Amino acid sequence: MKRYVIVGGGIAGIHCIEGIRSADRSGSITLISAEADSNYGRPLISYYLEGATDEEKMSYRGSDFYERNGVTALHGVTAEKLDPTAKTLTLSDGQVLPYDALCVAAGSGPFVPPFAGLDTVPQEKKFTFMTLSDARGLMQAVTPESRVLIIGGGLIGLKCAEGLYAHTKHLTVCDLAPHVLSSILQPESAEIVEQHLKAKGIRLMLGDSAKEFQGTKALMNSGETVEFDLLVLAIGVRPNTGLIKDAGGDVNRGIVTDASMATTIPCVYAAGDCVESKNIITGGQGILAILPNAAMQGRTAGINMAGGEAVFDGGIPMNSMGLMGVHLMTAGSYYEESNGGQVYMEASEGSYKKLFTKDGYLTGFILMGDLHRAGIYTALIRERRPLDSIDFETVKKDPSLLPFGAEYRRQTLGGVV
Ligand SMILES: Cc1cc2nc3c(=O)[nH]c(=O)nc-3n(C[C@H](O)[C@H](O)[C@H](O)COP(=O)(O)OP(=O)(O)OC[C@H]3O[C@@H](n4cnc5c(N)ncnc54)[C@H](O)[C@@H]3O)c2cc1C
Repeated sequence: MKRYVIVGGGIAGIHCIEGIRSADRSGSITLISAEADSNYGRPLISYYLEGATDEEKMSYRGSDFYERNGVTALHGVTAEKLDPTAKTLTLSDGQVLPYDALCVAAGSGPFVPPFAGLDTVPQEKKFTFMTLSDARGLMQAVTPESRVLIIGGGLIGLKCAEGLYAHTKHLTVCDLAPHVLSSILQPESAEIVEQHLKAKGIRLMLGDSAKEFQGTKALMNSGETVEFDLLVLAIGVRPNTGLIKDAGGDVNRGIVTDASMATTIPCVYAAGDCVESKNIITGGQGILAILPNAAMQGRTAGINMAGGEAVFDGGIPMNSMGLMGVHLMTAGSYYEESNGGQVYMEASEGSYKKLFTKDGYLTGFILMGDLHRAGIYTALIRERRPLDSIDFETVKKDPSLLPFGAEYRRQTLGGVV
């Protein structure tokens, strides 16, 4: 009987279990989760904080998932050391687990730069926003009078602001970048989001961040002092690569794997936010830290660990989010005329569309408001479909499958349209 060990009970870990079980019903599976919780939809933590969902609804595969799949799940313990020669994993509680195949699905952790005086902020007033436990902590701490300072105006910081908005209106978000969501939006599209946040009463301090903390005061680079009751550090994330690196496996920004999700250590696989993978558009390697990629990579790893054959052949950066009533979706790489691309743009009240093409391919898009059939643009990017093979003039104004020709529609939809 084969012994499988999985580090991490997030999306990649859960799909790894399903991948293993699709090929091996009898091997033993042990899952190690540093979090007391596992098997929940991480993107839902802001909705939990907001009060729009509960823990039961957040369960990703249902509470009997481990039992149904014959998994021994160990919660609240961390995997500390991987010994590739002895093929063992040592845990924080001293257990040593032997494995035949192991998957590191350790995700990423919050990156907190060494702010001067951060240790003077009382522990119970200081939060990150990555886990269900973080959301629970914030929910218990926040009151309608709480003044909250969120450091970081990216996806995590703004989703946290959205969750907190149900509890307090005294929210300030700062970011060193000159606009919000700077890794996925450009100044013009970010401006739409910023106007919306400001209209809700959220204070934005852009191009600014904390220089120093003194207890519950943040001294900002701009010279201003912001007093707060709660502080959320949402500056960025770092892939959890330590286990593989310390064991001698290849790591760049993330864990290096091949298309089967095997690391450079024999019998050891990795999946999810902790790995690097191929960006289909640029051909380069990078971290594509989104849920669908974690799911596909986890399943691929699991099938291969169990002796099957599966491939993850790359992905694209993609984000889809609702933010206090604004719906936006972005994907791919943005090439302006200055870097060899062409741009198509439409903007009207409540709706914004920018498509980026290069060398006859759609490479990226930013959509806000009307996300109707955005999947057609995503498919064009992901499939690297030459635009001269379709009526792109029509598709760019109105995404529909009709200009794709009957054969493509038959393949994609089984001839439904
Ligand atoms: C607030 C928020 C909103 C998001 N919104 C979206 C969204 O809208 N769409 C989208 O696609 N993605 C979204 N994401 C990203 C998405 O949640 C991740 O891409 C996905 O959860 C990655 O899954 P994973 O299994 O790789 O890692 P994780 O879900 O992070 O799971 C990894 C687990 O491994 C554990 N672990 C780490 N090291 C060890 C160790 N040594 N021993 C034991 N356990 C360990 C961690 O504690 C964690 O529980 C969001 C993320 C956040 C935080």
